[in-house]
Amino acid sequence: MSSPESDPVGAPSHDGHRPDVNGSTVAEGERAIDIENLQVTYADGTEALRGVDMVVPEGEFFGFLGPNGAGKTTTIKVLATLLAPTSGAVRVNGFNVRAESQQIRESIGYMAQETSIDPELTAQENISFACEAYGVPRGERAQRVSDLLDLVDLTDVADKTAEEFSGGMQKRLDAATALVHQPPLVFLDEPTTGLDPKARNRLWEYFRRINNRGTTIFLTTQYLEEADQLCNRLSVILNGEIVVEGSPADLKRRVGGEILDVEIDTGGGAVDRSVAIATAFEPFADATVERTETGISVTAETARTHGTELLVALRDKGITVTGFNIRAPTLDDVFLAITGEHIEPEQAADEEVSR
Ligand code: ATP
Repeated sequence: MSSPESDPVGAPSHDGHRPDVNGSTVAEGERAIDIENLQVTYADGTEALRGVDMVVPEGEFFGFLGPNGAGKTTTIKVLATLLAPTSGAVRVNGFNVRAESQQIRESIGYMAQETSIDPELTAQENISFACEAYGVPRGERAQRVSDLLDLVDLTDVADKTAEEFSGGMQKRLDAATALVHQPPLVFLDEPTTGLDPKARNRLWEYFRRINNRGTTIFLTTQYLEEADQLCNRLSVILNGEIVVEGSPADLKRRVGGEILDVEIDTGGGAVDRSVAIATAFEPFADATVERTETGISVTAETARTHGTELLVALRDKGITVTGFNIRAPTLDDVFLAITGEHIEPEQAADEEVSR
């Protein structure tokens, strides 16, 4: 298996070439986000971004992934004009972040990690308030509020205060308030963290709907399944540099084959012995073998065709195999291959309340 670092998918080079998006060049007028060699060094000397290149075409659902501290929020803050770049050229909706911050703020929506709704106001009042703050013309507000309530499926609780809502409903309301000025580009910074799968799914539906209407979406998330389900294209950032870029399918192909998870009786050094057996197993010459909590995991082009032979080889050497599974790679496998670690999202805590 080739190393992602040595041959990144579409990753930008730093020798002056611009990144290629899906193999084609996106015209300048069609770039919602255009970042060239962005560097951000904080006052204490931390080099948070070390030469990021990125083009997000209009209309794309783009995912930005990376472990804690990789530089995702720093990037969003620069794009939302909340933080000045140390160096580099950054344009958002065609506007320059240094000279045209007002135009950028008027043309983006930003759903931050912390919700910005007022818990003492009703859903309707929260959206009306946002309309006022964003300068939506008075005559258009009532219709805008009603459309957004409908879009995020909160019409029947429009007159309830936000504090009565579940976390998922509050997030949907927050997303609606980020959209009142109908921005062509929306930033979603970990929008579903802490939500249960049902609440998350409802938000996904809503994000898909706004993307289908033509809104460009820039999403950061720690849930790889979320990125997989929603995004046309992804970038992974690590230590302030983009290390890989491509569609979810492209990235999965890079893992190189399929994955054989083998569960064994782990006592008496059996995992170490299994790793050694799988590593030496001839049909898996190009395989990657890893320890897991319950045994080993083998990634190989031939996992499906030769997997059972490995199980026999393990058993012949005295390993008790208690279970196995052959599967296609997930984005988590991609992430592991690139960064050497899994993303471990916090346990979802929220529950959607009944109305
Ligand atoms: P997370 O998922 O934890 O939000 P992130 O990918 O968004 O992480 P950033 O918040 O952009 O990462 O941080 C990138 C790096 O910059 C980290 O090393 C972080 O500690 C550092 N950093 C962030 N803000 C500041 C600051 N105000 N001053 C100094 N260093 C900072």
